[in-house]
Amino acid sequence: MLIVIEGIDGSGKSTQLALLKSRLTADGFVYHALDFPRYGRPGGQLAKLYLQGAFGKKPGDVNPYAASSFFSVDRISSYLEDWRGIYEQGTLIVSDRYTTSNATHHGSKFPPERREAFFSWLFTFEYELLGLPKPDLTILLDIPSDAVQELLSGRGEGKDIHERDTDYLRLCRESALQAAALYGWRRVGCIGGDGRLRSENDIHEEIYRYIREIIC
Ligand code: ADP
Repeated sequence: MLIVIEGIDGSGKSTQLALLKSRLTADGFVYHALDFPRYGRPGGQLAKLYLQGAFGKKPGDVNPYAASSFFSVDRISSYLEDWRGIYEQGTLIVSDRYTTSNATHHGSKFPPERREAFFSWLFTFEYELLGLPKPDLTILLDIPSDAVQELLSGRGEGKDIHERDTDYLRLCRESALQAAALYGWRRVGCIGGDGRLRSENDIHEEIYRYIREIIC
């Protein structure tokens, strides 16, 4: 089984994956965790170069199909090298980003009416042609891009070409919400009814509820 945590940069994915891992361990579940892109591995080098701006300083400088393929290469090499065997044996896999991040990021480079065709190409390419597993559950951490800027402000100089661009993050959110509606991702809103950021634990409890529904 494959569960993916998705969301724009700074939406809290790695925070939530850390909480999820501790919770799964405490509750006695066996799992394997993934984190994309894998900058430190050979398969992640094209994605790393793209994010560093080697192919253009703005996200729109690289054709979205080409940019997307850099990240696809990272995923398929990770699958073949590291987790195909345990996935096929039935181990629970939890992932910080996945193919869904291509829908979020590169889908944002199209006007809304052309995104569906891109999503369709993307999911056919990765899940059917490359043979990557399809997630059983995708959780979208949904947060407005202006709220994210505040959370990311501490990252300063380390920001990549995506994180530096506020308009880009706003369009990524739109693209992710569009994909969520089309493909049945579970949306978890990070802003509470009072208009403030929900606590990490509150968000975690909601995510864990959805996960328990499919792993128990
Ligand atoms: P991502 O992995 O999606 O880029 P992170 O998990 O690194 O996001 O979160 C970005 C920043 O926001 C981190 O500094 C993290 O500690 C902080 N953060 C994440 N979720 C919350 C939350 N619910 N409330 C307050 N701060 C948060």
